[in-house]
Amino acid sequence: MLRMGKLLGGSTLASFFRRRALHPLGRRFVASAPKGIRSFSFYGPVLHCVGEYEGTTRRSTNAGTTCRDNVVISGTQAARPIVSVARDHSAGMLKVCWEGGKEEVYPYVWLKDNCRCPSCYHKVSHSRLTFIEETDLKAEPISVQRFQVIEGGQQVEVVWQDVHHSTYGTEWLHSRGFSEESRQARDSRYRLERKFWGSESLDDFPEVSFKEVITDDVALLEWLRQLEVYGFVKVKDAPAEIGQVRRLAERIAFIRKTHYGEDFTVQAKPDPSNVAYLNGPLQLHADLPYYEYKPGVQFIHCITQYEGVGGDSQITDAIHVARQLQKECPEHYRLLTDTPVDWFDIGTDETGEFYKLLRLPVICTDKNGQIRRINMSQPQRDSHFSVPPGEVTAWYAAMVAYYRLLSDPKYCLQFKMTPGTIITFDNLRIVHGRTGYFSGPGERHVQGCYLDWDEVRSRRRVLETKIDPYRSLYNQ
Ligand SMILES: [Zn+2]
Repeated sequence: MLRMGKLLGGSTLASFFRRRALHPLGRRFVASAPKGIRSFSFYGPVLHCVGEYEGTTRRSTNAGTTCRDNVVISGTQAARPIVSVARDHSAGMLKVCWEGGKEEVYPYVWLKDNCRCPSCYHKVSHSRLTFIEETDLKAEPISVQRFQVIEGGQQVEVVWQDVHHSTYGTEWLHSRGFSEESRQARDSRYRLERKFWGSESLDDFPEVSFKEVITDDVALLEWLRQLEVYGFVKVKDAPAEIGQVRRLAERIAFIRKTHYGEDFTVQAKPDPSNVAYLNGPLQLHADLPYYEYKPGVQFIHCITQYEGVGGDSQITDAIHVARQLQKECPEHYRLLTDTPVDWFDIGTDETGEFYKLLRLPVICTDKNGQIRRINMSQPQRDSHFSVPPGEVTAWYAAMVAYYRLLSDPKYCLQFKMTPGTIITFDNLRIVHGRTGYFSGPGERHVQGCYLDWDEVRSRRRVLETKIDPYRSLYNQ
């Protein structure tokens, strides 16, 4: 617990579950926060939301939906009243000041581009109707005023030189501030901040109940947030029968199909199309490195488990380990981020013959140096290697060093899945493996499937719009 505390800055996942036990969904609970902050956390450190929530829940008997009674969500970080709006023609900006001292400036060109009137904007489809080449680069207001409307709160009206009238709501402006603070606040909603972990900092796995995420939207939202933050969540107590990964995936969106099909079964079988279908150890890897649009989320459901020694699952936060490698040996890190590697998969499965090939480094970073994707799969690394021969040995040394860290018990969690457990994880971030086992065909049976992060994040945002409206302000 103490070690987990380091990870979460004093709040632990263990306490998350204890609190959850104290406040099961379906019981009335009230979460409060220091006066003026108007923030609450559903159950733990991941779920800091702004707003106030008081309510009870009632589960519907209809699978997949939840009815709620007496749920009051308020205080959606409403902007304070605007006290002044002023034009600054020399800067080409409108300055807006809110009560309490908050100020934002909005470029004229942007304001006009985002006019909400029916001829500029189609409200139902949330779509701009104007043409980019007609953008008024010299837009300038001839007058601005703020006024109060009964239903819509405060509005700012701008009359432009071409006599076009635009009005903007105070909340709309507030959530689109250009200040550093406002942009940072939006970043945290655009993608949830990842929390990295090693095995010693994660004594208690993030866990959710299958039944709850299937039937309750709050539990579903909580799971999706944890998946995005930690990259790994166990879903417990699913029925130990085939079809459950599909049920779970379809609670979010639709399955991402690959050449292995939609929901695939992993069992020891003769002459397999993939080494996962053998019963030897499966090295730590991320699936499908040869896909340019690699499925982002993976589910693995244990239906029957081998009862002898072996068949354990292994999970490592490979981005966390890559960051450690960067600190300990920058040259190894550089080689793994700079050196292109060919990843491939050739064969025949239920969707027919396939020949996949993609060239990417092991560690993929964005322009800010943030790690966005790990490619790791010893079986599916091509023997074609298009680098100068003098760089090859150094690259192998970096790869060996990285793999040793990935499999170090300090970073690698090892556990045996029990029937009914579904592990859900980020396939761009987590590497997973399996220790060998010695059973015959059929004794160990798991079923898996993939989803795309686009769909998972979309579902999270849709749920936030309903359950946690402050976050939905992002795109109102
Ligand atoms: Zn307009």
